Amino acid sequence: MTLIAVPISVSGAGDVADALHRAQNAATLGARLIEWRIDALAGREDGHAIAARLVRESPTPCIVTCRAESEGGTAATNEVDRQHLIQAVLSSADQPCYVDVELAAFQQDQRGWREALAAIQPHEDDGPQMASLIFSAHDFRGRPRDLIQTIETMTNEPLCKVMKLAWRARSVRDNLEAFDLLTERRKPTIAVCMGEPPEIGLMSRVLAPKFGGLLTFATDSPENETAPGQPTIEELRGLYRFDSIGKQTKVYGVIGWPVGHSASPALHNAGFETLGHDGVYLPLPVPTEYEHFKATVGSLIDHPRLDFRGASVTLPHKEHLVQFVRERGGRMDALSETIGAANTLIVGSAGGLECRNTDAPAIVRALCDGLACDESALAAKRVAVLGAGGVARAAVAAVSQAGAKVVMFNRTREKAEGLAADFHGSKNATGGLVHVVAGKDDALDCGCFDIIINCTSMGMTGGPAPDDSPLAVLASDTKVLDETVTVFETVYTPRETPLVKEAREAGATVIHGDAMFIRQAAMQFEAWTKHEAPIDLFERVLAAGLT
Ligand code: NAP
Repeated sequence: MTLIAVPISVSGAGDVADALHRAQNAATLGARLIEWRIDALAGREDGHAIAARLVRESPTPCIVTCRAESEGGTAATNEVDRQHLIQAVLSSADQPCYVDVELAAFQQDQRGWREALAAIQPHEDDGPQMASLIFSAHDFRGRPRDLIQTIETMTNEPLCKVMKLAWRARSVRDNLEAFDLLTERRKPTIAVCMGEPPEIGLMSRVLAPKFGGLLTFATDSPENETAPGQPTIEELRGLYRFDSIGKQTKVYGVIGWPVGHSASPALHNAGFETLGHDGVYLPLPVPTEYEHFKATVGSLIDHPRLDFRGASVTLPHKEHLVQFVRERGGRMDALSETIGAANTLIVGSAGGLECRNTDAPAIVRALCDGLACDESALAAKRVAVLGAGGVARAAVAAVSQAGAKVVMFNRTREKAEGLAADFHGSKNATGGLVHVVAGKDDALDCGCFDIIINCTSMGMTGGPAPDDSPLAVLASDTKVLDETVTVFETVYTPRETPLVKEAREAGATVIHGDAMFIRQAAMQFEAWTKHEAPIDLFERVLAAGLT
């Protein structure tokens, strides 16, 4: 079983009561080990007494660590002070489960450290009362060049019971090496990737149970994080289903840049939990260039023990997914082919690849559900699509295939013209010809549209114009809305955009962006699990995360 360990730093006697309270709270949340970080106590007269009390009153078994500055700690005092403090801890009646000493420090002063650690016996049959030694190595710049040598040294040193290796990941791929270390271990091992964006090493923390890691570090609250990318205990257990992860667990994720604020992990993991599907869904940040996408996704798929079974693919990689699947000889649905972009990767158990576009059918389903009609009814509609980016492309493909007449409006008119030309005149699903044209500046005010779909990023939190409605830019008269019009807002953060408010005030029917988001996610979920998606649950989870 992989334990959740929570580091808690203590810098003086005044911190102890609060630290013990935090430890108790962490234990209640599910921590099975507390790591007492006593970096600041080295060289202090009362250091030993404080450390002894922490160990004695610790609500769970504990690790004692006095981390050197050179490896991410704050113990700036000389090495002798650190050694004396650890020696004193090991001479106390109440022993921690482990003490952690950096291999580099040990190698620099073997005599001093061997003396400090003399109470630890290098035998397998140490009594349970005796602390064991963790040898650790941290690299905050990148993967240590001497990683393999470090592991060899730790393995061969009889004093070392547990090996801990932590480094700054340069790519999601670094996590795979951490998994290989855990798989090939000859001693209990902790392998952790850290870094920025914080999700880059999250996989190594969440999937430690799949690969037999001794423990994973979590924090009791976000402000107490001691290394970049540490999740909270609640995230680990609640969001990422840590307690259910085992050797056979299938891995999924959302691939994009950035992915930190994606609601997809909350939706899919809640769905897996409800269904009892042995899977976990993670944010997977992959930088914008195709080379990164190809290398990372290829490594995830090809890893022999990861069981990577699929991904949601978002900005800026939707076109990359089509290219990647084509290069690998995989299958793709007709919509991905027509649109030139896909948002869903499905990896078969034997490694076969398939990509699908679930954005376009999600737009049709959200529209039909909102209008309480079936798809054939869309053929009689005149639709204005605002924007000419990726979502506009999916919207145009979706509604024009259903037979609707589409007029596009975009700030940069040439982009709308180009996109319209890609579709106009081709055969649609109703047997007729696709009708898509770029509108003139003021044609949005014609009063002739049944449906207006906003596919610009205006109104989106963190976007280019969060407080503005696209009608203010694309229509000369804002009275384009009345009770005969349906406004479909694809932006879903926030749920109440300026356009939604405007539409409601005008008495128009409103379809929110979350209707599309949930339906595209549901189709992905069904493709991966072969089970119907729990739409009600998705709605509740998304609503809980949106303001
Ligand atoms: P995109 O490719 O970047 O396109 C953005 C579009 O917005 C472009 O047409 C751009 O016009 C226009 N735009 C941006 N700022 C503007 C401004 N200040 N004034 C006028 N027009 C402006 O983005 P995308 O991938 O299509 O995504 C668009 C939106 O869809 C996102 O913001 C997101 O909220 C939403 N979305 C929803 C879902 C869902 O499931 N509900 C899924 C994905 C995305 P120019 O061509 O002139 O630059």
